[in-house]
Amino acid sequence: KANRLFHPENSIISVDGEKIGGKRLGIIAGPCSVESEEQIIGIAKRVKAAGANFLRGGAFKPRTSPYSFQGLELEGLNMLKAAKAETGLPIVTELMSTKHIDAFVDDVDMVQIGARNMQNFDLLKEIGKTQLPVLLKRGLSATIQEWLMSAEYIMSEGNENVILCERGIRTYETITRNTLDLQAVPVIKKLSHLPIIIDPSHAGGYTYLVEPMAKAAVVAGADGLMIEVHDDPENAWSDGEQCLTPDEFDRLMDKAKRLAEVE
Ligand code: PEP
Ligand code: MN
Repeated sequence: KANRLFHPENSIISVDGEKIGGKRLGIIAGPCSVESEEQIIGIAKRVKAAGANFLRGGAFKPRTSPYSFQGLELEGLNMLKAAKAETGLPIVTELMSTKHIDAFVDDVDMVQIGARNMQNFDLLKEIGKTQLPVLLKRGLSATIQEWLMSAEYIMSEGNENVILCERGIRTYETITRNTLDLQAVPVIKKLSHLPIIIDPSHAGGYTYLVEPMAKAAVVAGADGLMIEVHDDPENAWSDGEQCLTPDEFDRLMDKAKRLAEVE
């Protein structure tokens, strides 16, 4: 179902009145983790003013260490709802367990399946039984075929609202957090009709890499970007070293939108 052979036109996915996959870039921005209502509302207002059309913020966090902050969970979802009520931005947030699917169907506009759960087949099948738009991140060491098969798990259950997100893969390189596979954009466009966006924040792992790779993604033909933005990066509860400040995000948006027009 993800294969372009059987669906020659590009898919455009509707998410609460917004669209991903059309001419306009889909820009998802916000902090790695929701930390408080004031934090998420403040950042939501800033990213909206800069041109984001979706708000991200992790409430359930897939941390490498069990001793790291695990997210505010359902309380975090409520804070995202408050930020949506203030700004109108649709909510994108990660689901880690089938036990929270009902809460996500009620409150979330696009559910993120994170890199670490890309092959959690039970989770994929259950989310496939809903019509909730799904942002499916590429696994840490997943091939493009494996990634498309994960999309297939969701789509074969009846949910065709899938958007792919390349967020860097694990290679022998250690200077950057991951290695951004920009070739995934034209490869996915060749093999599939699904939209693909790029997350340069998790790919690079450092703020200075975000702008050049975001611009390159737009020129490569990505349908959108996911960017981590925090108003106080040094004190962020997760991923502070890779986020942009709202001012930096604002400047990036100007540049990215101009590049998108040239394309
Ligand atoms: C995230 O978006 O905060 C995240 C944990 O991403 P990934 O699954 O790509 O590591
Ligand atoms: Mn993060």
